[in-house]
Amino acid sequence: MIDFETSAPATGLLDIDWNHDDPIQVHAYDEHTVVLRQSKKVHYEAPFMFLLFGNERALLLDTGATADSPLRATVDRLIETWRQAHPRETYGLVVAHTHGHGDHVAGDDQFRDRPDTTVVSADLAEVRAYFGLPEEPGAEVPFDLGGRVLTLLASPGHHRASVTVHDPWTGILFTGDTVLPGRLYIEDTDAYLASIRRLVALADATRVTHVVGCHIEMTSRPGRDYPLGATHQPDEHALAMTPADLRAIRDAVEAHATRRGVYRYPDFIVYNRPPVPRMLALVARGLVRKTFHLGQRRAATAWRRRQNSASGQRSSAA
Ligand SMILES: [Zn+2]
Repeated sequence: MIDFETSAPATGLLDIDWNHDDPIQVHAYDEHTVVLRQSKKVHYEAPFMFLLFGNERALLLDTGATADSPLRATVDRLIETWRQAHPRETYGLVVAHTHGHGDHVAGDDQFRDRPDTTVVSADLAEVRAYFGLPEEPGAEVPFDLGGRVLTLLASPGHHRASVTVHDPWTGILFTGDTVLPGRLYIEDTDAYLASIRRLVALADATRVTHVVGCHIEMTSRPGRDYPLGATHQPDEHALAMTPADLRAIRDAVEAHATRRGVYRYPDFIVYNRPPVPRMLALVARGLVRKTFHLGQRRAATAWRRRQNSASGQRSSAA
């Protein structure tokens, strides 16, 4: 049995190079905690997913942005490897979600026929029923993976079924799209404010080492995000944020709670129920960027063709 309660808690690295070479990049934070990221080459959202191992079962948090990703094979392989090191008669898998948006649930169907596996849909009623999460705001419940007892907090605001997961073993707070280095899309400001205050209180009361969301949309230049839909993001902001960032986000949302709009900060951008023109501007910026890149690529290809045919003519003339 692995002692997740009293043995030294895990410390791992998160500031790693996300290279997007493989469809899903796998990073072992520690032996029992795996961070996965879908490649930008497969889907521009490049969401992060997480696999946490306990003594009796593992939790897969999110299934990514595409239905036909190699997620099932990747997770099967990771569980197989883990079980070789930690043999068990049976071992379960629970597939659940940070929230129900399409880029976090698309791979669910891959797990429906997997033995010893429960897929909890991201529907609010089903999330509440499966985890026993009460309806009142700020509700939280323990979720035991076998000696590794997570805390699940209802944290609506970005999405009505948003759930934040705190893992005492690593100290990581998994915040989905509620808190991330990027555009914080707030659908319900009152709910979001209550949720972010709740997360600040949790970070004050317990050990939070990293605040880990599901996307990176900020560059390493303060206040600069990548265009929507960017498929190449050199010099990304680090994935992990801190309890200080939670407080900064709370303060920012408190300051702008009554005004819809877009508010830029060094490590995040608040989209408080953004008015339609602001969203159109975001989409337009992404399209302009994409067209520009396409134009550049076409010009480069045409130039290469001209070079090739010129050198072809030279060699046939020789
Ligand atoms: Zn997302």
